[in-house]
Amino acid sequence: MTPKAVYVHVPFCEQICHYCDFNKFFLKNQPIDDYLDDCETEMKWTAQRFPSTTVNSVYVGGGTPTSLSTEQLRKLLVSIREHFSLAKRDSLEFTVEVNPGSADQDKLNMLKEVGVNRLSIGVQTFEPDLLNRIGRDHQPEDVKDTVKKSRNAGIDNLSIDLMFGLPQQTIRQFEDTIDQAMKLNIDHVSAYSLKVEAKTVFYQLQRKGKLSLPSQDTEADMYEMLIRKLSESGFSMYEISNFAKPGRESVHNLTYWDNEEYYGIGAGAHSYMSGVRRQNHGPLPKYMKAIKQGKLPYLEEHPVPLKEKMEEEMFMGLRKRSGVSVSRFARRYGQPVVNVFGDKIKRLKENCLLQERNDRIFLTEKGRLLGNEVFEQFLLDD
Ligand code: SF4
Repeated sequence: MTPKAVYVHVPFCEQICHYCDFNKFFLKNQPIDDYLDDCETEMKWTAQRFPSTTVNSVYVGGGTPTSLSTEQLRKLLVSIREHFSLAKRDSLEFTVEVNPGSADQDKLNMLKEVGVNRLSIGVQTFEPDLLNRIGRDHQPEDVKDTVKKSRNAGIDNLSIDLMFGLPQQTIRQFEDTIDQAMKLNIDHVSAYSLKVEAKTVFYQLQRKGKLSLPSQDTEADMYEMLIRKLSESGFSMYEISNFAKPGRESVHNLTYWDNEEYYGIGAGAHSYMSGVRRQNHGPLPKYMKAIKQGKLPYLEEHPVPLKEKMEEEMFMGLRKRSGVSVSRFARRYGQPVVNVFGDKIKRLKENCLLQERNDRIFLTEKGRLLGNEVFEQFLLDD
């Protein structure tokens, strides 16, 4: 098994959103060119140390990759092509994250030129007040403009990110956001409920009692509405938070849910290579210092024992609507899934949280709503 995917992290943003706990830094005065040189060095050393047969997907995320200048971004994308054994253009999924309004026509044309064929656009909501409340600096019209320019550039595989459960967000507002999203005629939607994470503006507000969030019931109603409305518009929910038109499922994200290995390049990036999960240094000075000293920039390395691999196969596989393949499990881990998780699967089936059919174990509708409670059942005792 060799890595099938490359993730590259661009940790710069032009604004810092109030909910965000990603590894990111305010763009101004950052050593961007030096960082990009270091990323290229990391790619070179990584590809030499962990050669791969063929990489099927590249995902450049952040941060905001399009906060780089056209030339900086081109350099980064070209180095990915140089250092990894990418599949041919027509069988490679090559995604770049784009913030609405952050990419002009030239930048989008350049993306197409270097082989990018999919964009993930950070929309979050179409409600101007809400955009403001969550700290985004784009307007709803910027989304339409970015979609139009992407298509002008010849990139037509478009995904958008939405959020729900936002401060003071009503069901009606979320419904309107979904309706507006559907008018864009895009191919893929990722929709996540807000989680208030430590070290964010929202976390501080919540501690002071100044964050008013929709109730859990309202949030559950939003999620159910999302599933219903997207399925009425021809999307199928192929993972708990991801919806696609036929054939437009994200190859890159499926690498994670299929528990496959992947490269991770850049500050704070995670990777999984040769059976070891790694995390890179997050702060730029630490990441860049490691590279300057001739070392791969790992903060942590964790060889994944068999027990953990099997647990992960279940947690991540069950996120997919298609669930976990019984025959694949046996092939990968040398034993049938019932030998390892038989009791748990039986109990979850009795509680109508899991179902098994045609070689697949998957969540029921009820199981999907109680996902985390199901996943934790698959933690094995030491
Ligand atoms: S959500 Fe995206 S754009 Fe906003 S601060 Fe985080 S990484 Fe930057």
